[in-house]
Amino acid sequence: MKDLLTTDFRNAPYWWDAAPLTESAGGALAPSYDAVIVGSGYTGLCAALTLARAGRSVAVFDKERPGYGASRRNAGFLGRTLKKSYIDLKAAKGAESAGAIYRDLMMAYDSTLAFIAEEGIDCHAVRCGRLIAATSAAHYADLERELAGMQADLGLPYSMLPRARLREEMATDLYDGGAVIPDLGSLHPGLYHGGLMTRALAAGVAIFGNCEVTAVEQAASKGERFRVITAAGPTRARDVVIATNGYTPKSLPWHARRVIPFVGYMAATEKLPPALLAKQLPHRRTVIDSNLDIDFFRPAPDSPRLLFGGATASGLQDPEAIASLLHARLRRALPDLADVKLSHVWTGQCAGTFDMMPHIGCHDGIWYGMGYNFAGVPMGSFFGLKMVMRYFAWKDARLR
Ligand SMILES: Cc1cc2nc3c(=O)[nH]c(=O)nc-3n(C[C@H](O)[C@H](O)[C@H](O)COP(=O)(O)OP(=O)(O)OC[C@H]3O[C@@H](n4cnc5c(N)ncnc54)[C@H](O)[C@@H]3O)c2cc1C
Repeated sequence: MKDLLTTDFRNAPYWWDAAPLTESAGGALAPSYDAVIVGSGYTGLCAALTLARAGRSVAVFDKERPGYGASRRNAGFLGRTLKKSYIDLKAAKGAESAGAIYRDLMMAYDSTLAFIAEEGIDCHAVRCGRLIAATSAAHYADLERELAGMQADLGLPYSMLPRARLREEMATDLYDGGAVIPDLGSLHPGLYHGGLMTRALAAGVAIFGNCEVTAVEQAASKGERFRVITAAGPTRARDVVIATNGYTPKSLPWHARRVIPFVGYMAATEKLPPALLAKQLPHRRTVIDSNLDIDFFRPAPDSPRLLFGGATASGLQDPEAIASLLHARLRRALPDLADVKLSHVWTGQCAGTFDMMPHIGCHDGIWYGMGYNFAGVPMGSFFGLKMVMRYFAWKDARLR
């Protein structure tokens, strides 16, 4: 087993090497804020930043150090599709609804990249393209049908890659061909989150790390509708946003009942000879396979390593057992890497939903965005922004 791990192996996200978690005390707890946000990932920080720049006083609370959740643990794939098939969605809800949902996904994707560019966040954001590798001939046919449908209705580009040509994209014979989506992207999740945090702090957001919110109670007083109980004491807020996704606690029972938490597993290889890495993914695209429980691969953006993950249903907790399982997946997909060692293995909490769709809304006056089904990099960022836009639209409507 030890042979699989480097001598400096770490049971921590690879991303934390370049973007380590920091302590954040948030200063003295104020008696009240315009808005309190629970959770300091992309959703919470995008909402906080938007509110603070609109002149609101905002406090973000995280149970752990800021960014401890999935936002500094994910694979950094930027997409604009859902687990739910577009064709199935169209059949179930009609072309108009399916089109509206997919336009939101496209807006999430485009606005995340545009925001990163406008803000100048240095997080290796690129439109590298994605390979979707089919795990069976039937999946290949389904993939072609799905992508052809999306191209016809939404104009989204793709090209099919039959099995005989798969090695143009990946050094493997495991899959029954695949499809390339040329314009999908990737980023360094830790640096993206770090950039958001710097900007939120600069905009005046108070970020309280290691400070759990244990209850959100309706308050009777005028103007301050909520009493928020935190590990640093109670405070009041006019508005509250729940942004806890896969880490949603039982103390928020309405929200916790609506998400299905599951564990995502990832690993990084040791540094590889650049030619060996280039042979595995010659176009430096992200790769997912076509299973519901996906295996996924990408080159690290900042060093010659392969990052990969999968086996979400395995239930493993021991880092060595996770390393062993992931290494077996790596060897199976990319046999040239059978002898490479792993330098990092880590896990993170994701959130599925019963309808496989992300959810945004307001319940009992409390805003929430969650249930991203493994697409929270663009969707969490977008829902943070969208919640605030909806909130202002709703307030304006009440004032009229
Ligand atoms: C291994 C892995 C790979 C992934 N890969 C991708 C990918 O490639 N592309 C993609 O789009 N998505 C991916 N995802 C999903 C994506 O990372 C998440 O959907 C996204 O980060 C969710 O962001 P968030 O801000 O909503 O929640 P998170 O970033 O998870 O933050 C929630 C925070 O809430 C805090 N919290 C919980 N309870 C409390 C409380 N009571 N008080 C205070 N704080 C609390 C937690 O400590 C946590 O920090 C992946 C996830 C994992 C785990």
